[in-house]
Amino acid sequence: MEYIGDVFYEYGGGLYANLTNKCPCRCEFCIRDMVGALGGADSLWLRREPTLEEIKELLGEWNLNEFDELVFCGYGEPTERLEDLLATARYAKSLSPALRVRINTNGLSDLINKRDTTEDLRGIIDAVSISLNAKGPEEYLALCHPRFGIDSFDAIIDYTRRVKEVVPDVTMSIVGGTIPRQDERPCREIAESLGVKFRIR
Ligand code: SF4
Repeated sequence: MEYIGDVFYEYGGGLYANLTNKCPCRCEFCIRDMVGALGGADSLWLRREPTLEEIKELLGEWNLNEFDELVFCGYGEPTERLEDLLATARYAKSLSPALRVRINTNGLSDLINKRDTTEDLRGIIDAVSISLNAKGPEEYLALCHPRFGIDSFDAIIDYTRRVKEVVPDVTMSIVGGTIPRQDERPCREIAESLGVKFRIR
C-alpha cells in the first residue's frame, strides 16, 4: 500500500497506533498544532484513514514481542474508531498473547459513539489513560473546546467511574504547565475520589 502517514510508530518502549486524526476537541496545548510527528514517526497526519485490513497488514510488519505495550493514541482521539481499535487489539493479542494494550483517550468515547462503550473494553484492554485536563466543567470547556459543550467534563468523570469496573489499570492525567498550579490538587482529588491513578504528564 502507498504511504499515508505513520499508522504505527515506536515511542519509549511502546508501539503506538495512530488510526485516526479525528477528535471532538481543540485543546489549547494539543501537540498536533506544534509538531507533525513524535518518537520514530515521520508524519502522524494521515492522508486518509487506513482500513482495518490495512491496519492488520501494517501491524504484521512489527515484532510485537519487542514492545512493552501497544498504545492507541495517535494524532486524534482513538475511540473515534472504537470498533477498529478493538479489532486491532484482538488481532495484536492473537499475535502476541502477553502484549499489554492501553488506550490514551480524552474520555469522551460515550458521547462520540452515543452509547455506553466501557463494557466493550472488558478482557481486551489492559489500561486506559484518560485526560482529565481541568478541575471542572468551565475550565475544561475553556481549555479543550469540546464540541459536546459544557456536559463534556461530567461525561469524562462518569466514563472513568464505569471504565474502572472493566479495565484493571486506569489513570487520569493533566498536562503540567497548562493549568494554574493551585488546580493540580483538585484534579488529583477527583482521580483519588474515583479510585484511579493520577499523573501529571
Ligand atoms: S483531545 Fe488530544 S488530540 Fe484532541 S485536541 Fe485534545 S490533545 Fe489534541
